[in-house]
Amino acid sequence: MLNLNERMVNLGTQRSVIRELFEYGKKKAAQIGAENVFDFSIGNPSVPAPASVNQTAIEIIREMDPVILHGYTSAQGDAGVRKMIADAVNGRFRTDYTADNFYISTGAAAALCCCFHGLCNRGDEVIIFAPYFPEYTVFVEGAGAKPVIVAADTQAFQIDFTALEQALSVRTKAVIVNSPNNPSGAVYAAETVQKLAALLEQKSAEYGHTIFLVSDEPYREIVFSGTQVPFLPDYYRNTLVSYSWSKSLSLPGERMGYVLIPSAVDDFAQVYAAIAGAGRSLGYVNAPGLFQRVCAACANETADLSVYETNKNLLYHSLREMGYHVVEPGGTFYMFPRSLEADDAAFAERAKAHNLLIVPGIGFGCPGHVRISYCVPTERIEKSLPAFEALAKEYLQG
Ligand code: PLP
Repeated sequence: MLNLNERMVNLGTQRSVIRELFEYGKKKAAQIGAENVFDFSIGNPSVPAPASVNQTAIEIIREMDPVILHGYTSAQGDAGVRKMIADAVNGRFRTDYTADNFYISTGAAAALCCCFHGLCNRGDEVIIFAPYFPEYTVFVEGAGAKPVIVAADTQAFQIDFTALEQALSVRTKAVIVNSPNNPSGAVYAAETVQKLAALLEQKSAEYGHTIFLVSDEPYREIVFSGTQVPFLPDYYRNTLVSYSWSKSLSLPGERMGYVLIPSAVDDFAQVYAAIAGAGRSLGYVNAPGLFQRVCAACANETADLSVYETNKNLLYHSLREMGYHVVEPGGTFYMFPRSLEADDAAFAERAKAHNLLIVPGIGFGCPGHVRISYCVPTERIEKSLPAFEALAKEYLQG
């Protein structure tokens, strides 16, 4: 009799739909050649990190005392690193953060887990807007809280405020937003953010407790021309920002990110302690030392992200011409068109017959859509267009 934690066994056993498709794609590529499989399943950046990342890593390895370099840093991240990150953020957003406003984490995933574990007590509710990154429900439930899903505004992928008002309750502890969004690519307009902030202020006062906004921003820098991403702490005081360099610097394997806890949040010292305590209880202390230093030194840089906009333009205009309904993404490397039949899983299955690997929307809490990850070479998109067209014709003709 093992009596293991059943929830953990299930999480460790079930493969996500995205991973299933990715594995299927690898098998199919072995059979018919990788060039004939149009794999749009996974969100792995397709461009290399800027050269400065490796140069900086080499310099640090050459020049730093190895005992310090490979030694423990402060649990919340090296103080000098946090200062450099604060300076970079201040330079961009005209803020006055210090090292003490940052908790360095192993990627956005750990940053989010620190937020939910730090903020929530058992039975608290966290609001999630569909469509959403599927791991949110895992992270929220892992913190003993209850995810409450707000149905998508499928017209523009902004916020359905009527649905949000119905979802808010006296148990709401936090609301998570992700803009630019995985999977829709939508960026919240300033107007959306203002309305959200006003509603959360009003509800915090009504319920007599703070409702936190957790802003998950790993795609902050991947935005297309003409799109502005509002900086949420400017709009809502009780905002915690979860950030990572996984996408902006193309470093998902290095697991580096942070939680920004602005001094303006209610009872800052308590909130910072809760995030640090969560990091401690989860065993996340001291994110990897070398890449703390590399990311801090490269915090004002990005990989060459231009291919994502090229891909977005090509795919968006082509799909529209073929008859697909798509909301034009303002950023990220995802697109979320409507499936051409109500059952998105059946549609994605039919796409497989054309060697198109796209992910059903149901897993993102938004059925009737499919996610296309276009972080791929532009050539793969060009070659895939006849397959998208043949798929559309199966539905739209006859
Ligand atoms: N949040 C969103 C919306 C994501 O898409 C991802 C990764 O794809 C993460 C968080 C996790 O990011 P990280 O790899 O930095 O943990």
